[in-house]
Amino acid sequence: MSSIFDQIIEGKLPCDKVYEDEAIIAFHDIAPQAPVHILIVPKKRVQKLQDLDSKDMHILEDVVKVAQTLAKKFNILEGYRLLTNNGALAGQTVFHLHFHLIGGKQLGHQFG
Ligand code: 5GP
Repeated sequence: MSSIFDQIIEGKLPCDKVYEDEAIIAFHDIAPQAPVHILIVPKKRVQKLQDLDSKDMHILEDVVKVAQTLAKKFNILEGYRLLTNNGALAGQTVFHLHFHLIGGKQLGHQFG
């Protein structure tokens, strides 16, 4: 099933892109929850973390490397979060695997 992020990956929808390579695209979240709120999106069509095959685990390494690069670029090395919402009950609204890179302010302790 095609999601809004597939359309962004395919260039059919615009985004405020901050990084792209053959496997990953990253862009600013349209409704930022912090001064820096970037979505890091693997291009492979996987709905959520739980669906990631063992052969595709290298994607996680790629995501972490991109997150480290962007954290440096956007000057949030003092503190940031990298998270994914897995499933509707966790708050996932776009069913294409993605990671939120959030920082630029004091983040709260609430997760629920
Ligand atoms: P989720 O709730 O699935 O973990 O995260 C989806 C995120 O995608 C939300 O933070 C939402 O603001 C963002 N989002 C939804 N549609 C778009 C869009 O068209 N463009 C961008 N840049 N972000 C989007």
